[in-house]
Amino acid sequence: MNIKNFIKISRKIFLVERVKNLLDLKIEIQKMKQERNAVILAHNYQLAEVQEVADYVGDSFYLSKIAANIENDVIVFCGVRFMAETAKILSPQKVVLLPEKDAGCPLAEMITADALRELKGEYPGVPVVCYVNSSAEVKAESDVCCTSSNALKVVASLPNHRVIFVPDGNLGNYIARQIPEKELILWQGHCVTHAKVKPEDVRMVRAQYPEAKFLIHPECHPAVVDLGDFVGSTSEIIRYAEHSDAKVFVIGTEIGVVCHLRTCLPNKQFFLLHSGLVCPNMKKTRLQSVYDALRHNQHEINVEESIARRAKSTLDRMLAAE
Ligand code: SF4
Repeated sequence: MNIKNFIKISRKIFLVERVKNLLDLKIEIQKMKQERNAVILAHNYQLAEVQEVADYVGDSFYLSKIAANIENDVIVFCGVRFMAETAKILSPQKVVLLPEKDAGCPLAEMITADALRELKGEYPGVPVVCYVNSSAEVKAESDVCCTSSNALKVVASLPNHRVIFVPDGNLGNYIARQIPEKELILWQGHCVTHAKVKPEDVRMVRAQYPEAKFLIHPECHPAVVDLGDFVGSTSEIIRYAEHSDAKVFVIGTEIGVVCHLRTCLPNKQFFLLHSGLVCPNMKKTRLQSVYDALRHNQHEINVEESIARRAKSTLDRMLAAE
């Protein structure tokens, strides 16, 4: 056998083994799920193999609401740390597992509770709205939480003229421009993944697909957002694509949304706006990590009680505004 054939056959064997492995893991995960009375929640940005074993797939707001209302004993949260923390805060009596302990969100880590306390000191009495992409400690220091779907509604509902908005400066800027009657004090955090897109990328891709609708996430830079045909959260982008008469779309958010749309809407075409729209933290979770989480109870998320209590009030105010 020549070397070329040897490589070809080895690759085939590897692929067959991998598919068999994934199938075995899926069966084992289903068994473990029943044994432990567990539910698997997966964010839209997770790998397809993870989404396939999930009971619920959606954006962080949708998953937060699910976490608050389900009756299972164990929640396996396939996402990043702040999401699992949010689930634990909303369901303190349940065991919440984050399959990959290092799956964090750089945006959430761009502000600490100490830094927020300092900012609040500069603006006494000004309410704080925190994006759900924040730590439990930051939520505990805030007045009300929001997601990219309801940020405008939450900020607009506050009677105050001035509002502190943390930690996403791009989302804050997007909201501020829609309610000029309010003054938003913005923390300049950003999502390192969405920040990769530049306005010239949009112009270049638009020249390539002139008939396409450009659907952009507000975590992108304002100059990028301005070039979109539609701006919305992950779930709003999905809904827009489902209901639009257009056939070609360029998606300005994480690649997981493109994969989801291609599967759900095979008669439409979806392109990723920028090849860098891949969140490395969201891609850390594999099927093996989900299995290990259930099998070895790892990695259990706990939030200190006094922080959890205050963070829950912040989250409850957001859920009540819906
Ligand atoms: Fe955080 Fe951005 Fe990754 Fe979302 S896509 S988890 S905001 S780094």
